[in-house]
Amino acid sequence: MSTANSEIRSLSARQFERPQKFKDFCHNDGQPLGGLIHATEVSGTMNATFQTIDPGSHEVLATVCEMGAAEVDAAVRGAQAAYEQGANCWRDKPVDEKISVIMKLVELCERDRDVLLACEIFDGGKVSELAEGDFDQIRACAEYFCEVAKRIPLGDSSALEVGPGVQGYSFREPWGVVAGIIPWNYPSVLTSWFIFPALLAGNCVLIKPAEDTPLSALYIGKLAEEAGFPPGVINVLPGRGELTGQFIAEHPGVRYISFTGSPGVGQHILRTCDRHGTRMKREMGGNGSAIVLADADPLEVARKIGRYTNQHFGQTCCTIHRVFVDQKIADDFIDAQRDFFSSLKIGYQANEGTELGAVINSTQQDRILSAQKQTVALGGQALLSGGTAEVEGKSGYYLKPALFQTTPDVNCNPSEVFHAFATICPVSDADQALALANQSPYGLGASVWTKDLDRGVAIAKKFRDGTCQINCHNQIAYGLPYGGQGISGGPGAGVNCEETFTDYTQVKAIYLSQYDA
Ligand code: NAD
Repeated sequence: MSTANSEIRSLSARQFERPQKFKDFCHNDGQPLGGLIHATEVSGTMNATFQTIDPGSHEVLATVCEMGAAEVDAAVRGAQAAYEQGANCWRDKPVDEKISVIMKLVELCERDRDVLLACEIFDGGKVSELAEGDFDQIRACAEYFCEVAKRIPLGDSSALEVGPGVQGYSFREPWGVVAGIIPWNYPSVLTSWFIFPALLAGNCVLIKPAEDTPLSALYIGKLAEEAGFPPGVINVLPGRGELTGQFIAEHPGVRYISFTGSPGVGQHILRTCDRHGTRMKREMGGNGSAIVLADADPLEVARKIGRYTNQHFGQTCCTIHRVFVDQKIADDFIDAQRDFFSSLKIGYQANEGTELGAVINSTQQDRILSAQKQTVALGGQALLSGGTAEVEGKSGYYLKPALFQTTPDVNCNPSEVFHAFATICPVSDADQALALANQSPYGLGASVWTKDLDRGVAIAKKFRDGTCQINCHNQIAYGLPYGGQGISGGPGAGVNCEETFTDYTQVKAIYLSQYDA
């Protein structure tokens, strides 16, 4: 029996102070931060503002203007003009020119790295180790899609002879005005995953950040102006989902929506889009599973799984919340996983060493507490029962981790619980584990843990999930599709692959016959 490797720790915080530039940005000369429409900061005709807070301290970071129907309309009109009007409109700009301004934006993000880290850490409640990894995605994503844009031509395909005297070919073009509706858990990553492929395909964009984390998109919007994006190409529309988001979904000038968020909201927006003929791609929540085979080291794997489960305190869409472990090693695995979770250092997300910080808002806190109770009511046996936690000197939304043991006949973890929360079910074999893992209506991320790599690959391919991993989890790479099956995903190829780029384009068939009347 090996011993648990205590080097395998959760992602953690280094001490991080608010940079002056971040404070100045939030203060905005004493004015609420406006939306960014056609390179102009606007306060909005609804005359409504909301406060964005630090979830670990409840301190107000900034006051932000909420965008109404009139601002959405102005943004759509401005974006449409930037898209198609004038000889050098965004649609017709050569790819090299688009790349040049996009890479300038990336450089400005890097110049102001500390400000964007502060957005993730203070607005998003993230520990620095994760925020730094997220920040690196801005360049990685931009560079990947710049290469894709050079490779995939838009415009006319080669022609076919489709009938006597008739030629046919396809014509690929951008949608025009596209909107990205973004959740709060990975604001700068998901903003990058949306804007870079959409812009490089020739679209002009509306970014609708989540109401809990509007700061990074607003900051990136300001940098876009400095980078030299023509007015109207990038617009940022902060506000509540049911208002600003709904106005975007209902606007007939928005041709395509890229939504990332919860399945319920995604399904609601899809119905709105269907009514208006707007196309939509959806990347939604998960309830990820891990299967641990009998040949795996239970102590080591328990810690690795614990690290993934607690990534962003469990607020990561694809991570592990359901574990199926071979009963031969279940006792050791359960002990090690309980030790890992119970030793997580709960604290303020910007204080040295914190591993488990506050959740994003009071609604999430209430949801998680009620899910912990519900798991027991449905037959789960508490190994760690969760509940609220106190952090000295801070009044954030702090919760203890929760861990439950279950049996194959008890489905006590049916829905996504966005926290350091997991159920562990001892199973007789891999077939039983797979059947249970695949029972979930979600299908975003799954993994299998074993020394036998061939067997691992064979099992991984049988998950219904869009991302299947062996001896790792939460890996995401450019060039491979990241998307969900079941209620975790929707039409479209997922993100981060070549097809993501083509999702931001439409194809028409053109038939050409000689005029021989
Ligand atoms: P959410 O669905 O509540 O909100 C997402 C976005 O939709 C927000 O910007 C919100 O304002 C907006 N919105 C809400 N109602 C709307 C409406 N009627 N019309 C238009 N827009 C509306 O999700 P959340 O709580 O912000 O984020 C967490 C969820 O996101 C989790 O389910 C998580 O798993 C999922 N997620 C998925 C991925 C992925 O890649 N699959 C990535 C990150 C997060």
